[in-house]
Amino acid sequence: MTDLSTITRRKTRQITVGKVPIGGDAPISVQSMTTTDTCDVESTTKQILSLSGAGADIVRVSVPTIESAIAFGKIKKGVDVPLVADIHFDYRIALEAAKQGADCLRINPGNIGKEDRIKQVIQSAKDHGIPIRIGVNAGSLEKDLQKKYTEPTPEALVESAFRHIDILDKYDFQNYKISLKASEIFMTIAAYKLLANQIDQPFHLGITEAGGLQSGTVKSAIGLGVLLMAGIGDTLRVSLAADPVEEVKVGFNILKSLHLRKKGINFIACPTCSRKQFDVITTVNALEERLSDINESIDVAIIGCVVNGPGEAKTADIGITGGKPNLLYVNGKTAGKLEDNELVDELEKTIRNQIGQLEKSDEKIIPVIKVG
Ligand code: SF4
Repeated sequence: MTDLSTITRRKTRQITVGKVPIGGDAPISVQSMTTTDTCDVESTTKQILSLSGAGADIVRVSVPTIESAIAFGKIKKGVDVPLVADIHFDYRIALEAAKQGADCLRINPGNIGKEDRIKQVIQSAKDHGIPIRIGVNAGSLEKDLQKKYTEPTPEALVESAFRHIDILDKYDFQNYKISLKASEIFMTIAAYKLLANQIDQPFHLGITEAGGLQSGTVKSAIGLGVLLMAGIGDTLRVSLAADPVEEVKVGFNILKSLHLRKKGINFIACPTCSRKQFDVITTVNALEERLSDINESIDVAIIGCVVNGPGEAKTADIGITGGKPNLLYVNGKTAGKLEDNELVDELEKTIRNQIGQLEKSDEKIIPVIKVG
């Protein structure tokens, strides 16, 4: 199939969060954030494990108190995935989180207060070799900027960003990434585009407070999709008022749709109509559920009838086309007939067999074609 998916990525310097590179030609990483009480070490560790099980490359954890910074250290020992400590205002918490093994500090230097405190946090990040994420958010713009611009605007977000960037520059700290989030798509896109040519640090993308599972997914897919297609974005988090595992799934689905990453099964399924010869929707839902542990990249087509079935099934790795009988395809060739009542079991078996034959690899990523 002709590949029309060339995206020229914004050229950024590379930083690393734990073992995960961000920026440069690194794959665009997917992040999520815990929703548990950080002091509840057991629940937070459990949630982080389920997020990394779903494929999250990086997990962010709120650290609002010194006690939670201590808990962060305990949590860190029980997980492999890099952890970002999310801190606001209190430099002592940032120092403690760095000491406890944070792989990145999310803190805005301009909000820490006295110069000496800022210096200590930056020095600590340098000593521990960890980056900082500046997180500008339209909902928490500085009061004077709110007054100057009367309302959040892309220019206000970028001006706020430069206040933090200038502080890091002053202390010769370039190991940072930045986000400029708003819940409004147009503003978010304009703000990232405005900053894109002014610095070369990587961007963390997100539409903040995007909404519930469905509305937030749509909003994020449009907002992040537009930026990613323009080559902007090095790591992302989809913010949903839902189970954070859903954020990870949506993040990967956005990247998969743009051919920026391949991770997990790419289901191609028809919406069905009266021509369908088997229950496509139940079959797809059952397979998505049963195969959620799969990280390998594979295309599976589930199509209700011969109108589009053979075409889709032949170009996928595995396909099923509804008919009398339903026809199974593997690697573009017919590979058997399946009764309706054996579809889910047999497809699961065939997909797992096929994956077993694929070369073992942690993740199969289509590298973005060009870095401009
Ligand atoms: Fe309907 Fe067949 Fe098209 Fe599916 S592939 S939507 S069953 S016509």
